[in-house]
Amino acid sequence: MTHGTVSEPGGGAAPGAGALLAILRDGQARTRAELAQLTGLARSTVSQRLDVLIDHKWIVPSRDTVSSGGRPATAFAFNRGARIVLSADLGATHARLAVTDLGMAVLAERAAELPIERGPEPTLSWLVTAFEEMLAEAGYPLSQVCGVGLGLPGPVEHVTGRPVNPPIMPGWDAFPVPEWLGARLAAPVLVDNDVNIMALGEHWIASPEVDHLLFVKIGTGIGCGVIADRRLHRGAQGAAGDVGHIRVGTAGDALCRCGNTGCLEAVASGAAMAARLREAGIDAAGSRDVVRLIRGGSAQAAQVIRQAGRDIGGVLAAIVNFFNPSVIVVGGDIAEAGEHVLAGVREAIYSRSLPLATQHLTIRASELGDRAGVIGAAVMVVEHVLAPGTVDQAVTLAAH
Ligand SMILES: [Zn+2]
Repeated sequence: MTHGTVSEPGGGAAPGAGALLAILRDGQARTRAELAQLTGLARSTVSQRLDVLIDHKWIVPSRDTVSSGGRPATAFAFNRGARIVLSADLGATHARLAVTDLGMAVLAERAAELPIERGPEPTLSWLVTAFEEMLAEAGYPLSQVCGVGLGLPGPVEHVTGRPVNPPIMPGWDAFPVPEWLGARLAAPVLVDNDVNIMALGEHWIASPEVDHLLFVKIGTGIGCGVIADRRLHRGAQGAAGDVGHIRVGTAGDALCRCGNTGCLEAVASGAAMAARLREAGIDAAGSRDVVRLIRGGSAQAAQVIRQAGRDIGGVLAAIVNFFNPSVIVVGGDIAEAGEHVLAGVREAIYSRSLPLATQHLTIRASELGDRAGVIGAAVMVVEHVLAPGTVDQAVTLAAH
């Protein structure tokens, strides 16, 4: 099956060129006859639509021909190299950038220190220059870019792409990120929060067959991306998955950066773990130091991180009962500390969730690691650009 959405045959208008492209996106080449059978369209209609897709270079005749006794029939395949995507995952202090093809293969990649608190214009100017350099190095013109995907470390109104009161991003509130970047990179720009794009990336690459998945990011803060029915669930205001500010019993009256007390983040985030280690006289400024200590074999750090895993698992146990995911992925800086945090998360979930909900539940570390964000930002763009409706609109516009 494809990752994208295929228009339902018979669900209104006949499948257009976009629906044929959606079928071919799984990478398997198919003949006109096969596509006619799959869509219920006449062979002549399939041919017309394939011609349009070939004109736009979305598909190419495949080298594989299919012989069914008579003369061999030409098969057609999705052309992943038709366009390229620019993607970026901006964190509180560092950025990761990528150029990918339409199949999310990374063609160029870059990581850099980039404090988000410098504000939108300096940050985005740096981003534009970096993208231009990467394109030049990789040998692609800007005209090949079909879209730009960006993840930000704070709440984003996805429809407008504007940050909404982001706590660690001074100057970014309501900044028109898509318009500003779009004017300089001449392509549509999609923006979402970092956890959502990580969930998209991990789902696409590592668990495409899974319907319901949670991606929990444990870094300076704690957030969760929700994939429901293979789609990102953002909620009414884009606040879905904000698990960091759920109250937990073990937090007591610990003050959280949101202004409330007793939040999960106040006891189990990378920042909270570092604070706990400092209380014990150990030098730790943030989540990266916690990881460094774990790798160095610190028993105190292991204890702190395992307890944080239990606290996070306690909240997730309730969510597992409510949402019944089949996979929970743990990512973010702290996940790089290895098994300690996963052990704590598993311990709490398996002891507190209902057996029916955990029977087939997989709890694992992120496979993509610090690449989950850039891959997911590319997925966000490709899903938008290659959505059947968008493709139909693009080919219709081009024909007039
Ligand atoms: Zn809070």
